[in-house]
Amino acid sequence: MLTFKSRTALVTGAGRGIGKAIAETLARHGVTVICVSKSADSCGATATAITAAGGKARAMAVDVANGAEVARASEELLKEFPNIDILVNNAGITRDGLLFRMSETDWNDVIATNLSSCFHWTKPLARPMTRARWGRIVNITSVSGIMGNAGQANYSAAKAGIIGLTKTLAREFASRSVTVNAVAPGFIKTDMTTEFVNNPEASAKILEVVPLKRFGESADIANMTAYLCSEEAGYITGQVFNVDGGMAM
Ligand code: NAP
Repeated sequence: MLTFKSRTALVTGAGRGIGKAIAETLARHGVTVICVSKSADSCGATATAITAAGGKARAMAVDVANGAEVARASEELLKEFPNIDILVNNAGITRDGLLFRMSETDWNDVIATNLSSCFHWTKPLARPMTRARWGRIVNITSVSGIMGNAGQANYSAAKAGIIGLTKTLAREFASRSVTVNAVAPGFIKTDMTTEFVNNPEASAKILEVVPLKRFGESADIANMTAYLCSEEAGYITGQVFNVDGGMAM
């Protein structure tokens, strides 16, 4: 059992997949969860499910790629929840293609949604955490950011950037007891990977490089993330935790 002392968390990309599992897992531990996603329907559904299960949640649709929109949302949320003490930067997209065929739009969209979003949210939300001298920031990266992956120049660059950001902010915030860590999922069954998971040839090829010989579940990532957000993880910062079935050893 993990310990959480009446904490409030903001989870991006909480409408589906890994983010939804993280939001629900934190809520089961008594954390009040602000669920953010691009569409109001998806984050609204997660918040409704949490509330129906007896937890506390609030939903807000925000385009995390848009710095001005995140700044406005943060200001509004900090008035309502002055103590947002946990931030999980999870929202992400893929726009895959080999470099010679990758458009500048696909490059920019992936960098803005996956990497710049972490900068946009961390800046306003980390300030009250440093003042309170307690905080947890978890950034969701990927094995692609560690190993690289042909066809994912934009995505791998964004995810590698998240690792650099995580390690730098861990050093900047350490004296205020705000920890910053990253979780690197391998292949997890979500909407993002449906086309591979449901294709027998593609999935057999992927599982050749996964020592545990199965795809991961969103809960596998949520459990690691919840641990990193708990009291128990207070002496861990600046680290990247692979949850990938042994893929990137
Ligand atoms: P997913 O099922 O596609 O869900 C993505 C979530 O991010 C959705 O809730 C979506 O909002 C939200 N989102 C996307 N763009 C956004 C934007 N501009 N503004 C606000 N919210 C936005 O993805 P997932 O598989 O759960 O992935 C979650 C994270 O894990 C991502 O960062 C991904 O890169 C990383 N990851 C996943 C895997 C994997 O195998 N699945 C592996 C490594 C890393 P809507 O619901 O409104 O569309």
